[in-house]
Amino acid sequence: MLTHLQCTRCGEHYPADRPQSVCPKDGGVLYARYDLAAIRRAYSSARLAGRAPTMWRYDAVLPAADPVSLGEGFTPMLPSREFPNVYIKDEGLNPTGSFKARGLSAAVTMARHFGLKKLAIPSAGNAAGALAAYAAAAKLESHIFMPKDVPTANRIECDYYGAHVTLVDGLISDCAKRVADMKKESFWKRDGWFDVSTTKEPYRVEGKKTMGYEVAEQLGWRLPQGIIYPTGGGVGLLGMWKAFEEMETLGWIGSERPKMIVVQAAGCAPVVKAWEEGKSSVEMWANASTLASGLRVPKPYGDYLILDILKNSKGTAVSATDEEILGATRHWAKTEGIFAAPEGAACLVAYKKLLAKQFFEQEDIVVLFNTGSGLKYLDVLDSPAKNVATTKPASRQIGGIIGPY
Ligand SMILES: [Zn+2]
Repeated sequence: MLTHLQCTRCGEHYPADRPQSVCPKDGGVLYARYDLAAIRRAYSSARLAGRAPTMWRYDAVLPAADPVSLGEGFTPMLPSREFPNVYIKDEGLNPTGSFKARGLSAAVTMARHFGLKKLAIPSAGNAAGALAAYAAAAKLESHIFMPKDVPTANRIECDYYGAHVTLVDGLISDCAKRVADMKKESFWKRDGWFDVSTTKEPYRVEGKKTMGYEVAEQLGWRLPQGIIYPTGGGVGLLGMWKAFEEMETLGWIGSERPKMIVVQAAGCAPVVKAWEEGKSSVEMWANASTLASGLRVPKPYGDYLILDILKNSKGTAVSATDEEILGATRHWAKTEGIFAAPEGAACLVAYKKLLAKQFFEQEDIVVLFNTGSGLKYLDVLDSPAKNVATTKPASRQIGGIIGPY
């Protein structure tokens, strides 16, 4: 039912029967579009009952290709033990321990479908591990370009998955440049190379949008009043918003929408700054620094889409300091039994701030996204309990428009 790709900037249509990156005219992010009217006639949400508990249960609204799956998606929606109307969507239970599994399951599925052979990604985090795992499952080559000081877990998992890892003496932006330089070489096209950088190809968003379908299905086909989402590149936010629009067209939900809340680290908060200044695009954040490596994105490529969603959903953007994030990580572990990624725990900081400001009331149903497992961050989380408030982890200086996705 996938009919074409559409530029989110100029609206131009492009064929979906071949690999595509961004809009050749204006660099806009391309979205996959479906014949939703036909899907609506042929399919209802009731048919989901009994489907496998993975994100591919929503294959009616995903590209028709043989999935490369490791069991990703349909993660638990856990009622908070602390706040009666809060749910924690625990993405740490995905293969490779993070929500990146969804996007890369979809992207690698389409890469294999198109006969691509070698998948390249600049990354310093969980996207690298996820690409390495799905490429291994698909028998494709993965080529990962990471700064040489990457978190230990990501480096080790890529090695075990058999990825070709290049450790770059520099920043994530230098890694992105290495991939960009390779694209100019004659071997790039000849040998079936492809760049799976976030929002530079259309299918990672498709994988991430299944989080939106799951929120609705797991809450009984109603949407919460708010969704708090740790935002680096922001693909999950884009994907969920796209899912809500699709589900309304399909007749699965009404026109209601949650307030979409971006949470970022105070040491790298370009979306928060742009939102507070009423801008429609994001300025590059200088000297980005936070222990939450997934949030070290100085300028997300889909910035204009993120800011649109905040506006249209009557949402907002909130920042959390590293000290607040570390405190929330420990608090969640102790009170909820969830050892969260620091990015995920930042949602708790944001929720408490929004409750104090009466942006949310206690009765509002709010979903907090824990995007990964704390087990992948042992090197940054290994601090004695007494020192949590005073321990300032070593920061990394990250620059460039490509963040550690
Ligand atoms: Zn365009």
